[in-house]
Amino acid sequence: MFKKLNILDEKDSHLRKISKDAKLPLSKEYKKLINQIIDELTYSQIEEYAEKYDLRPGMGLAFPQLGINERIIVIVYEYDDGKFENYVVVNPKIVSYSDEMIAAEAGEGCLSVNREVEGHVKRHARVTVEGYDVDGNKIKVRAREDLSIAFQHEIDHLEGILFFDRIDKKKPFYTEQEIRLI
Ligand code: ZN
Repeated sequence: MFKKLNILDEKDSHLRKISKDAKLPLSKEYKKLINQIIDELTYSQIEEYAEKYDLRPGMGLAFPQLGINERIIVIVYEYDDGKFENYVVVNPKIVSYSDEMIAAEAGEGCLSVNREVEGHVKRHARVTVEGYDVDGNKIKVRAREDLSIAFQHEIDHLEGILFFDRIDKKKPFYTEQEIRLI
């Protein structure tokens, strides 16, 4: 049986808090919740299931979005048509990043933001993220392009930052000359 997650809306105060480190290894309950998140994010990116379960497409979720202010992020990345790779990082840290900046041309979305927000969000084209897996083993992920954007977006959630905070109100859009749009 597929049970939908209760994802909090941007107005909820959990989304504005700085989250604390999660204790490792994660509890059975958290591991179960992470599997549930992976299922939902995967289904949300497959049209047939997204329709069936009424899911808005999303590739990432951070624990604060479920009302748990602990530093855990989950990304389900469609690297090829219908092929997904899961990233679960506990207590993630960006340890290095490219000077080159990019932005998603269509803007970013968030499962906690149920409205259209226009504008480009400037992100590093590449990041290296270190953290732990659910059992407490150290892991390192190198991400580029849209996966890099996803990591920065999810890690922002752990700091109480939402993507639209990073949109320049006076000049919400960049040109191709100013930044590489992907
Ligand atoms: Zn988000």
